[in-house]
Amino acid sequence: MWIDSHCHLDAPEFDADRAAVRALARQAGVGLCVIPAVARSNFAAVRELAQQHGDAYALGIHPLYVPQANEEDLDFLASELAQHQNDPHLVAVGEIGLDYFVPELCTPAMRERQWHFYTVQLALAKRFDLPVIVHLRRSADMLLKGLRDKAWTKTLGGIVHAFNGSLQQAQSCIDLGFKLGFGGTLTYERSQQIRRLARELPLESLVLETDAPDIAPQWLYVTAAERAQGRVMQKNTPTELPKIGATLAKLRAIDVMELQTQTTHNIQSLFKRFQFAQKAQKDFAK
Ligand SMILES: [Zn+2]
Repeated sequence: MWIDSHCHLDAPEFDADRAAVRALARQAGVGLCVIPAVARSNFAAVRELAQQHGDAYALGIHPLYVPQANEEDLDFLASELAQHQNDPHLVAVGEIGLDYFVPELCTPAMRERQWHFYTVQLALAKRFDLPVIVHLRRSADMLLKGLRDKAWTKTLGGIVHAFNGSLQQAQSCIDLGFKLGFGGTLTYERSQQIRRLARELPLESLVLETDAPDIAPQWLYVTAAERAQGRVMQKNTPTELPKIGATLAKLRAIDVMELQTQTTHNIQSLFKRFQFAQKAQKDFAK
């Protein structure tokens, strides 16, 4: 069984065919999707989807949604985590993090605001004994600073999704008990740094993701010139995960089944408290 460790199945791009998309992914071998929330407004949607499809979900406020979010949203997150703490589908706090790529998020005031939301949510993860799913863009050092902070002394680990830092930063994340997510980006030959990391980091530290509908793999990508000739951009879905896995196995020159077994185990070990990923695997095997 493959696990898509990061998939926004609730995104409007899937409104027309969500159930079919999920069913196709299952046929392709994707037994479990982890669906992270991005804002208070989609907490109910990700929960319902996860429960309906036997998947997993995370609750949190994404850095790109921090400008619109407020303190009440953090209180609401805390109450949701409390209310659903026995829900076996709820596996993490996420998607949270720091984005220093989007210009509007890089003003001093906005960086401070992102930091506030990030650290409060880390503290919530600690309070509810949950791992975190973290978003990182040009922010690895600050992200690590948050994870090393006193308020976060007990490492619960988690996933740094779409990892894009240096080898040294990757090592620091691993030392803090984190797995690193790799997806569509590694399918592009020009992504040399990401490919190098995906090839060289210990297999025990890697998890796979599609980040659907974002980050289409190379075989779905349509250039502007091709679009002008009428070729349509295909939608990225969790069905692409096994092919991304096969690409990574090739990069590492290992057997694709070995890669599948290990990356699936990596996610299960992270969410072990829930015994949920294991249950999904049993259901999947039926
Ligand atoms: Zn995401």
